[in-house]
Amino acid sequence: MPSPRLFERIDRVELKNLIKRYGDSIAVDDLTLDVTGGELLILIGGSGSGKTTTLRMINRLIEPEAGTVSINGTDIRTVDPVALRRNIGYVIQQIGLFPHMTVRDNIGLIPRLEGWDDAAITTRVEVLLELVDLPPEMFIDRYPRQLSGGQQQRIGLARALAMDPPLLLMDEPFGALDPILRKQLQEEFSKIKEDLGRTIVFVTHDIDEAFRLGDRIAIMHDARIIQVGKPEELILDPASDLVSKLVDADRKFRHIDNLTVRDLMRPVTRRYFFEGGMPIGPALLAMMEDDLGLVIVTDTASGTGILNRRDAFTHRNDPVTVGDVARRPLVFAPGDSATEALRVLKRKKSPFALVMDRETPAGLFFSDEVLMRLI
Ligand code: ADP
Ligand code: MG
Repeated sequence: MPSPRLFERIDRVELKNLIKRYGDSIAVDDLTLDVTGGELLILIGGSGSGKTTTLRMINRLIEPEAGTVSINGTDIRTVDPVALRRNIGYVIQQIGLFPHMTVRDNIGLIPRLEGWDDAAITTRVEVLLELVDLPPEMFIDRYPRQLSGGQQQRIGLARALAMDPPLLLMDEPFGALDPILRKQLQEEFSKIKEDLGRTIVFVTHDIDEAFRLGDRIAIMHDARIIQVGKPEELILDPASDLVSKLVDADRKFRHIDNLTVRDLMRPVTRRYFFEGGMPIGPALLAMMEDDLGLVIVTDTASGTGILNRRDAFTHRNDPVTVGDVARRPLVFAPGDSATEALRVLKRKKSPFALVMDRETPAGLFFSDEVLMRLI
């Protein structure tokens, strides 16, 4: 029996006076929070502050002792939990793909339980794989053990989107990934979010991720929410010392006038270097296998280039080389002033630049990452 479509779109998710205890300790203490349709709301706080418990009360994996959760005005206790969960996507860090099932069967599991036929499932899985930048023809028949960590996370996201849920719950989905890949997934993810106009509640303990993705941020501490607001409200008007400390965390570069590009760049290692003559197909494969979002292309006719995954993906079946597809990046020297570099990036509307130490690529300089530290 197919589950009913409970809501086409989300207008409002209301958490009212939620309480959850484990024995003598309180995991969520009188928590009230409104999520507005279409927004990405971040729940951030230290380990054990109650984020996961709060999230799981929204899809009834955990039932509160007191308080209510309602979606578009309907108390979720009046809804069958299985039907509810098929209308809410859920992505976690350990996404738990079934090891003996292919990517198609993992992503298509719920559609199959909902009675879809094989052709409809395959079509849906292909659309979802495209959405998360994994070429279906390469990935649809793979088993989880043939996937890297980043690929598994993408599959986890695809699986959560299988039934096209208007509400997504995400619990530290990028928590286990390498920093550059994490950033890439965050960026891709914020694009998906805008395309699909979903409502998302997203748990993290990473303040940079919160600022990068959140429309609003709810800060949890000791089982309570201590402040909810837009990023700039939290910075300009923190409700307590705790909040000002949190939003200041790692923002040590308040005075960057004396800093150089070298101080703020991300250094790159050999694995980021691809030769210009390499055909695009194998290059995309290598980027996928190594979880690389951007690579540096050497020996091209026009100097050093940058190849991003999206471009490699787009051209994957064309008879071209990495050097043909690579773009000419903005280039800074390690000794350039960081403030000046930021101005140039802003003026050129470029999200990053390549840092060249004479003839040798030394790092990548991302403007939003640097700005994040300056707020
Ligand atoms: P977070 O996701 O913010 O790290 P959790 O919501 O997982 O926090 O946990 C909040 C508090 O509840 C923690 O003190 C945790 O130890 C406790 N807790 C969570 N789940 C259980 C459980 N099943 N049994 C006992 N205590 C739990
Ligand atoms: Mg948690």
